[in-house]
Amino acid sequence: MRRAPARPSLRVGIVTLAPEMFASVLATGLIGRAIRAGLLEAAFANPRDYARDAHRRVDARPYGGGPGMVLMPGPLDAAIRQVAKRGSWIVGLSPRGRPFGAPTASRLAKKKQIVLVCGRYEGLDERVCESFDEEISIGDYVLSGGEVAAMAVLDAVARLVPGAMGNASSFAEESFADGLLEYPQYTRPRVWRGKRVPAVLLSGNHARIGDWRRRKSLELTRRLRPDLLLARKSSKV
Ligand code: SAM
Repeated sequence: MRRAPARPSLRVGIVTLAPEMFASVLATGLIGRAIRAGLLEAAFANPRDYARDAHRRVDARPYGGGPGMVLMPGPLDAAIRQVAKRGSWIVGLSPRGRPFGAPTASRLAKKKQIVLVCGRYEGLDERVCESFDEEISIGDYVLSGGEVAAMAVLDAVARLVPGAMGNASSFAEESFADGLLEYPQYTRPRVWRGKRVPAVLLSGNHARIGDWRRRKSLELTRRLRPDLLLARKSSKV
């Protein structure tokens, strides 16, 4: 059995009113393996544990009126402090945040400790957001809570933690690694419903396979995500 490293590469604190939502994500697949191998550590803090009244309320009506409830700053801040260590990078999940993408995932994977703060209801009291290092959005739509967004961020970041993916070369070839989409993949059987695997992939000629994959990767990106090619061009100027 592989021995767990003395210190995990990445510690993730998750501030949420619904920690139970994370159970299967943390136990399954690559994230589960990274945690069991001691490469990744996850800790939770629940603002509800810091509520002050008998009803354990963590939300209140917004000043100035308007619909819904807003998370109060006190319990939220106390929960953040429970998991944040000195130097932790604090990330709020929010529709107004910076759009999440591969560059942000690889930047976060290089941190020692990050804290993901999940909102609920109509959102958080702005005074807590002022203490965040950044806010991240996973897309231009509104989720009912930050948990699903935090799971997306955690999954994308965990794959990049050194040692988490068995085969390091696989992420060098994945979509977005070089600003391109990945080439199409095929596996057994060689013929399925009359459709053949491209002959070049069966040739054993690695130079030709490499050229074919590169060409397909460019073709796919041009067809499905021309915006990536434009961004790639301008980043190389
Ligand atoms: N009233 C807020 C607004 O209009 O921007 C939306 C609040 S939303 C119902 C509740 C929580 O879900 C947010 O505080 C945030 O943590 C999370 N959330 C919703 N959409 C998100 C997104 N696209 N990306 C990241 N987090 C999101």
